[in-house]
Amino acid sequence: MYPFSFTKAANTREALNAGRSGGRYIAGGTTLVDLMRETVERPGTLVDISGLPLGEVTVTERGGLRIGALVSMSEAAAHPTVRTLYSVVSEALELSASAQLRNMATIGGNIMQRTRCTYFRDVTADCNKREPGSGCAALRGHNRTHAILGTSDDCVATHPSDVAVAFAALEASVHLLGPDGERRVPFSDFLLKPGDTPNREHALKQGELITTVEIPPLPRPLRSGYLKVRDRQSYEFALTSAAVALHVRGGVIREARVAVGGVGTVPWKLPAVEQALIGVRPSDRLWAEAARHAADGARPLQHNRFKVELLQRTVERQLRVVGGMK
Ligand code: SF4
Repeated sequence: MYPFSFTKAANTREALNAGRSGGRYIAGGTTLVDLMRETVERPGTLVDISGLPLGEVTVTERGGLRIGALVSMSEAAAHPTVRTLYSVVSEALELSASAQLRNMATIGGNIMQRTRCTYFRDVTADCNKREPGSGCAALRGHNRTHAILGTSDDCVATHPSDVAVAFAALEASVHLLGPDGERRVPFSDFLLKPGDTPNREHALKQGELITTVEIPPLPRPLRSGYLKVRDRQSYEFALTSAAVALHVRGGVIREARVAVGGVGTVPWKLPAVEQALIGVRPSDRLWAEAARHAADGARPLQHNRFKVELLQRTVERQLRVVGGMK
């Protein structure tokens, strides 16, 4: 571990001042401390923001939901409003990490967590994300768990968050506060595909803080849920996952929200699957036909070709479950 200084922000102004001067924000610390131990991250100053008033879950006037950046994963998962209105969010959180980690980790930290690519965490390996221009060891290495969607010639790492997949499906937005004031970024623009700058992972500017994640109101009744496929049933990252929300009225699907995880360099929305569902009566045939679009544009690697079919099957199964035809 490298030497660093540590300061606790008493209020938002103090946090922003420290962030503007190059301090790194820390709350639960469940990812950042690991990365510091492994010397992948070497911040000079840590700014503890755990005392800021960002720990509320509130229903908006329009009937949407705001989850404060410092709400823990376990608090968000158990919150009655989240469970009732957006069960896909609760399920994604409960299938993440371990109970101990969910008690410590925050919503803001969860969506900011960095990839689990083993080469990224091995400081002796070539990795464009950790050290721009050094190469990508995963391209010709062991890439079974890597991405098949949104990849580039410079990086094929997946984004590891489960709840980010639910947020992407529900078309959430991220509220930010920085030296220049407040702004709101659609979730689809918040996490960045690698392109030729895989070291740039998000839309945050220097010193900006995530304050809340807002989920827009959705038509009721809404059935939603999250399916995670992984090598073992607990404390493991997704090989594939699917977040699905459906609004069915008069026997016809009126709204559909679908995103997938474990396969994209960012949480991956599936507009072609959504379009195939809207305006159609649920049926076994419909789920299968819509899910066929799940891997459109996939570029599998040597060891992860299996993800193409696994992804289609994951989406079909979760459409069937959420659609009420198990
Ligand atoms: Fe680094 Fe990305 Fe390649 Fe992994 S996939 S080694 S994170 S550049």
